[in-house]
Amino acid sequence: MVISRIDLRGSLPGDLRDVLPRAELDVEAAVERVRPICEDVRRRGVAAVRELTKRFDGVELESTRVPAAALERALAELDPKVQAALEESIRRARKVHRDQRRTDITTTVVPGGTVTERWVPVDRVGLYVPGGRAVYPSSVVMNVVPAQEAGVPSLAVTSPAQPDFGGLPHPVILAACALLGVEEVYAVGGAQAVAMFAYGTEECAPVTMVTGPGNIWVAAAKRLLKGRIGIDSEAGPTEIAILADATADPVHVAADLISQAEHDVIAAAVLVTDSEELADAVEAELAVQVAATKHSERIAEALSGRQSGIVLVSDLEDGLAVVNAYAAEHLEIMTADAHEVAARVRNAGAIFIGPYSPVSLGDYLAGSNHVLPTGGCACHSSGLSVQTFLRGIHVVDYTREALAEAAPYVCTLADAEDLPAHGAAIRARFGWSIPGGRNG
Ligand code: NAD
Repeated sequence: MVISRIDLRGSLPGDLRDVLPRAELDVEAAVERVRPICEDVRRRGVAAVRELTKRFDGVELESTRVPAAALERALAELDPKVQAALEESIRRARKVHRDQRRTDITTTVVPGGTVTERWVPVDRVGLYVPGGRAVYPSSVVMNVVPAQEAGVPSLAVTSPAQPDFGGLPHPVILAACALLGVEEVYAVGGAQAVAMFAYGTEECAPVTMVTGPGNIWVAAAKRLLKGRIGIDSEAGPTEIAILADATADPVHVAADLISQAEHDVIAAAVLVTDSEELADAVEAELAVQVAATKHSERIAEALSGRQSGIVLVSDLEDGLAVVNAYAAEHLEIMTADAHEVAARVRNAGAIFIGPYSPVSLGDYLAGSNHVLPTGGCACHSSGLSVQTFLRGIHVVDYTREALAEAAPYVCTLADAEDLPAHGAAIRARFGWSIPGGRNG
């Protein structure tokens, strides 16, 4: 088992991002590769989606839409234990996301002058559930619950067609949709799925927003079509960073690094520690645990990739500087005073405090959302939430008196910007007789 070490003991470099491990994911180059795919879907609709599904997923689709009977069958055949776990996951996620709902707020700016911020859900969303290397029924929950809690009136889910499951998405994904009451599901993956949602086809009405995690092709298509559709943050290959000191248990640290490396050969697992003893113990533990786990090849590749590594720092102060610069999708704090350290983290998609809050809990059952910004985007973006699906509309309501009071200021600013028609629109309401007006 090889995992690289970066020794930053002593002084930290000026721009930490230059030395920290990170996947070289060229989404811009991928944008050029997906441009013809999206264009094809725009021009030829469902015929293009079918051809692309045959090319990339090896499935000849009769219809891109999953029949209602397939959703019902998937739920009827769902293992009761999986059903109970999904139901608990949904219950907890719903509890957290329900609390995120915003109420409209009216501010009385001046007597007779109010501004109300009205929160309105987007009309229709397309939710992407990945299904290439691994399948993610949990991502159905994480996408659908916030959209439902936001009150989105129309939502559709898509996930890649699977040759092993009769060309439908994975049955547990279908069952999760059925459990959540989602009736509109498509068997389409990759960039063509994002384009199908953005442009619409004969079988799928266009949406206003696409959310959900996915591989580089999905991220590139979202980047390309942003503007035509709204998107959430780019949630690409999974990342875990762990900030740990000598008090951390190397068995837990190794297990958690492995748990996220399991997602993808380009998933990132980074340990930041001021303890060389812990670094040595974790490395030894990784060798044992990777060898014993099911997807050991994929995990070993992810851990030995340039996106993963162990970063040694002089103290936790420097450790905090490193994790803030890295802005991990998932950040675990395994230090003696984990709450105090966590409170000082500024950049992370989600923070997991102490030995009993592992990322795996957040992946499925913490109640938090697992669709989180990756690739350093956590320094400017948030994970999926009810807020993702809402727009705040300002509703302005002023009386004649309140406008009269504001009018001189508006006219002065309009003149300062050399936009006299702006001032005229105000003066017209007062017969030009206000201060600053033609007769004022
Ligand atoms: P995916 O569904 O994102 O992608 C599969 C699709 O990619 C296929 O349907 C195919 O159409 C398309 N494709 C494959 N090769 C292609 C090519 N050469 N050109 C164009 N299109 C191609 O599934 P995946 O590949 O397993 O990736 C899922 C990703 O999502 C993983 O990296 C995982 O780590 C990540 N993930 C992230 C989060 C998060 O919140 N950040 C959560 C879950 C999963």
